[in-house]
Amino acid sequence: MSGKLSFVSVVFAALKIPLYALYGAYALATGYLRRMARLGDNLRLLGSTLRCTSCGRENALDGRWKCRACGATYHGAVFHCGFCGAGASFFSCRCGISIPLRRPR
Ligand SMILES: [Zn+2]
Ligand SMILES: [Zn+2]
Repeated sequence: MSGKLSFVSVVFAALKIPLYALYGAYALATGYLRRMARLGDNLRLLGSTLRCTSCGRENALDGRWKCRACGATYHGAVFHCGFCGAGASFFSCRCGISIPLRRPR
């Protein structure tokens, strides 16, 4: 009786292994893609200015910004608040257009 039970549990365990492997491959692939997308964003933000698609003005990425998450006013890169670590998803050009910093996730 107990021998039969352990046989069944071994079969179930063996069935689970490919599922775990599939899940692992899926998690690896999506993590890799997300990292690549983030790398692309960071490369775009490595420049010191970002061009407004509406008026063509080159907007400096370094400056004074007000964090929308914690409300602090900080000086530095627009996409990283030094106080709470929040990243801005966009900032406003002087012409009023919102310039996206990161693609929506
Ligand atoms: Zn503009
Ligand atoms: Zn903040």
